Amino acid sequence: MLNVAKFGGTSVADYEAMLRCANIIKSQPQTKLVAVSASAGVTNHLVTLSTKVLSAQEQSEIIESIRQIQYNITKHLDCEAELNTIVDGILSQLTELATQQNTLQTAKTGDAILACGEQMSSQIFARVLQTIDVNGLCFDVRRVMKTNSLYGKAVVDLEQLSSQCQTELLPLLEEHVVVTQGFIGQDGLGCTTTLGRGGSDYSAALLAEATNASGLAIWTDVVGIFTTDPRIASSARAIPEISFGEAAEMATFGAKILHPATLIPAMRSDIPVFVGSSREPEAGGTQIMQQVKSKPTYRAIALRREQTLVTVKSPAMLHASGFLAQVFTILAKHELSVDLITTSEISVALTFDNPTGSTQAVITQNVVEELEQLCEVTVEHGLNLVAVVGNKLNATTGLGSNIFDNISDVNIRMICHGASSNNLCFLVDEKDGDKVVETLHDKLFI
Ligand code: ADP
Ligand code: ASP
Ligand code: MG
Repeated sequence: MLNVAKFGGTSVADYEAMLRCANIIKSQPQTKLVAVSASAGVTNHLVTLSTKVLSAQEQSEIIESIRQIQYNITKHLDCEAELNTIVDGILSQLTELATQQNTLQTAKTGDAILACGEQMSSQIFARVLQTIDVNGLCFDVRRVMKTNSLYGKAVVDLEQLSSQCQTELLPLLEEHVVVTQGFIGQDGLGCTTTLGRGGSDYSAALLAEATNASGLAIWTDVVGIFTTDPRIASSARAIPEISFGEAAEMATFGAKILHPATLIPAMRSDIPVFVGSSREPEAGGTQIMQQVKSKPTYRAIALRREQTLVTVKSPAMLHASGFLAQVFTILAKHELSVDLITTSEISVALTFDNPTGSTQAVITQNVVEELEQLCEVTVEHGLNLVAVVGNKLNATTGLGSNIFDNISDVNIRMICHGASSNNLCFLVDEKDGDKVVETLHDKLFI
C-alpha cells in the first residue's frame, strides 16, 4: 500500500518544522512518496525577482535572504557543507536567471526562477529524513511531470506522467522514501514550468493518481479544512469529514487551504484525501472522500478576492441566437475561464478570477476591444466572491432569508445559484467581503 504526502511551505519553513514532518513520515511506513513546497517565504522572494525590475543591490539582498532561510536549516545537519554547496549552486543559477529577467521579463525565465525554491527544500528535506534513519532520496519531478509550455499555469500531460512514474519513480519506492518537488514541471523543450501558485497540492494529487496510491495527505498549518478561513472568522472550526464535491467547491471558490485543481485527480481516481497540521499531527484533521456520513445544508463559506466582473450589453441579443456563442468564442481565444454568469434581457454579466500572485490584469485591453466589436462592455474590479458551500442548496427552502436577511446592509452585486446543489455564490464590494463572511459564519455555524 502506498500513500503520498505533501508538506506546504510552513511545514518545511525551518529545521524544527522539517523534523516534525520527517517524524510523521517515519510513523507512517506506507507513506513512500512526498512532495514538498518551497520553505515559507522563498516563493514570495522568487516572485519579486521574477516580476520586478531591481537594482543589482536589491537583487543580491533578496538572494541572500533566501540563502539565509536555507542555511538556517542546513546548519542543524551533519551534511551542512554538502547541502550548502547544492543550495549555492541553485542560487548561482538563480542569480543568472534573475539578471536576465531584469531585462527579458519573460514568463519562461519567470518559471525557471520560481522553481528554485522547491529544488532546494526537497534536497534538504531528503537529508533531514536520513538523520532519523528514513531512507530519503531526492527525485527531480521534471523527469515525470511533463507539461505544455503555458508558463505560469502549465498543463500536465497525464499519460506521460503515468507512464514515466511506472518506469522512473515506482522502482525507487521499493527502497526509498522519495522526496520530490511540488509545483514544477518541464515542457517539451526541456524548460522548467510551474503549475500556478499553491500548485504543490495539485502536484501531490497528480502523483498520487499516477502511482495508484491509496491515500493522499496534505500537511499544512491548520488542523484540517475549517468552516471558513480562520484568519477571517476566529470562530471557524475544523470539519471532520467532507465530500469531494463540497471540498472541490471550497477549493474552487477561494479556500486557500487547497489549490483549486487538487481534488480533480483525487475524485477521478477515488483517492481519499486527508488534510491536517504538521505541527499537531495528533490533533486529527479533515477526511475528504466520496461518501460522507453527514450532509449538512451549510458546510462552509469561502471568500475569493480580486474578482473582475464584465458586463456585456447589446440590444441585438434580444430574441436573437448566437450572441453568447460569439462572446464565448472571444473569451476562449484568449484562454479566459469564466466563473459565474447571470443574464438579463439584453445583457450578460460574467466574473473572472485574478489568480493570487498574478501581476497582469485578467481582462486585457485587447479582450475589451474585441468584445466591443459585438456589444457595449463594462469592466468592474474590486469585488469579492462569497461562496456558501453545502448540500442540496438548490432544494432548500428559506435559503434566501437565512443568507441575505443577515447581510441586509450590504449591496449584493450579483448572485449565482441553482447550477450546483453544493453552492450559492454572490459578489460583494471588497470592503464588505470579510464582514459578510464573519456575519454569515456566525449565523449559519455558531
Ligand atoms: P500551505 O503552505 O501548507 O500550502 P496555505 O497557506 O496554502 O498552506 O493554506 C493554509 C491556509 O489556508 C491556512 O493557514 C488558512 O489561513 C487558509 N484557509 C483559507 N480557508 C481555509 C479553510 N476553509 N480552512 C482552513 N484553512 C483555510
Ligand atoms: N511554493 C509554491 C507557492 O508558494 C507552490 C506551493 O507552495 O504550493 O505558491
Ligand atoms: Mg497551499
